[in-house]
Amino acid sequence: MATAQDESQLDLGGVFQLSTMTSLIDGVYDGVMNFDQIRRHGDFGIGTFAHLDGELIGFDGRFYRLRGDGTATPLKSEDMTPFCSLTYFRPQIKKSFTKPLKKHEFEKELHALVPSDNLFYAYRIDGVFKEITTRTVAYQERPVPMTEAVKSQPIFHFRDIKGTVVGFWTPFFAQGIAVAGYHFHFIDESRQGGGHVLDYTLERGTVQIDQKTHQTLYTPETESFMNANLARSDLENEIKVTEG
Ligand code: ZN
Repeated sequence: MATAQDESQLDLGGVFQLSTMTSLIDGVYDGVMNFDQIRRHGDFGIGTFAHLDGELIGFDGRFYRLRGDGTATPLKSEDMTPFCSLTYFRPQIKKSFTKPLKKHEFEKELHALVPSDNLFYAYRIDGVFKEITTRTVAYQERPVPMTEAVKSQPIFHFRDIKGTVVGFWTPFFAQGIAVAGYHFHFIDESRQGGGHVLDYTLERGTVQIDQKTHQTLYTPETESFMNANLARSDLENEIKVTEG
């Protein structure tokens, strides 16, 4: 964790975006930064790994890889990511919920807590989920389009489980840079499983929200990124297929 003294050196208002959702869609899965590099851009975030080998989740400065075999492992220095969204999580908004809420009901509540759709927000939800459905993308030897890769993704159904959801709201004008709307990852309290969140019912829990002032986009100078087809005619639909 950063000390109080060097907090002033950190980009506390920003979301650091490594590469784009659109390039993932095109099958650009080459690792661009390792864990030692990405942790300099935040103590909190979500993403994926080189070869699409699992889902990334991090909070309180601790980061994990969630895999399709149902495991969660702390990141190692050398673990590489092609895509992630990171921030220093310093929430200004907090609210507790004590009644069960389905995803669409909960999202309505979340919506009411922020002033605009047109800003970036980071979210952390600690709670008990009556049910939560997640997927974990699986290792791809070759760079197939993500719409193909997700056809074999393992899906998990957790019930009555305590855990933490981490993610972002991305404004619609930034669709394709990240995933427009809510994009959440989950890890259970015992830090043994989780993934990219598809659906859930929150039993009870607390949400914390950090309103951000800007996004910093890092465009990789890798061959695969520079040669990717990022002018996609069906992006909206492709993101629906890959992100749920
Ligand atoms: Zn995800």
